[in-house]
Amino acid sequence: MRTPFVVGNWKLNKTINDALALVTELKNQLAVVRGVDIGVAPVFTAIAAVAKRLEGSPIATCAQDCFWEASGAWTGEVSAPLLVDAGASWAIVGHSERRQHFGDTSEHVAQKMKAVIEAGMGAIVCVGETLAERDAGRTLDVVDAQLAALFQGGRHFDAVERKLVIAYEPVWAIGTGRTATPAQAQEVHAHIRKRLGERLGADAAASIRIQYGGSVKPQNAEALMAEPDIDGALVGGASLEAGDFVAIVKAARGS
Ligand code: PEP
Repeated sequence: MRTPFVVGNWKLNKTINDALALVTELKNQLAVVRGVDIGVAPVFTAIAAVAKRLEGSPIATCAQDCFWEASGAWTGEVSAPLLVDAGASWAIVGHSERRQHFGDTSEHVAQKMKAVIEAGMGAIVCVGETLAERDAGRTLDVVDAQLAALFQGGRHFDAVERKLVIAYEPVWAIGTGRTATPAQAQEVHAHIRKRLGERLGADAAASIRIQYGGSVKPQNAEALMAEPDIDGALVGGASLEAGDFVAIVKAARGS
């Protein structure tokens, strides 16, 4: 019912030329793959070139972040209309690296999500707990608070229009090589879907995709995505090599 969505988050990696080499390979290797939506998130400076290279391909160009104001005296920021202008069709917001190192609060994330969706892009909103929070048994409370902030002030958009994706990314699993077990991930995904149902209704909850992120590799992708509420992956390190990313996309296809 839900088409899995696999997105490569390249973080602060790759020059424009390196980015073009990778997407050219992905475009070729994934040309005949069906049944899975695919995206790549280069650094801001490579978005326009990557989007142009991906024209005519089903692979979407995503941004790694997006500021909430459209324009003005905000030195260093990049807004949703500018991302659209550059060719992005999705933006990730609330990545834990933004939350941890750049002070993004859940309220900022909600503002960013709103700006992304209002500009006509899809929003991939990341949520997830730290290791200390998990060890303290607070995982579901943390995720609840992050989700609640998204919907403060009412519903800003029609979530069933495939514009909202939630990425559950336990912070302790990101870039650590330590993956949540399929059962651990499924527990949180099912909880997120339940909360989405309470906020947005059963139909919306059934159609919103919830990606898992945190050390997804070709070796663990299939088992994770076989879980009923895991609808694809947000992939960091393993998205930097075409072979690994293609294998993860193919693992999603059968889920
Ligand atoms: C990420 O950056 O969103 C991520 C999940 O990274 P990694 O796959 O490297 O853990």
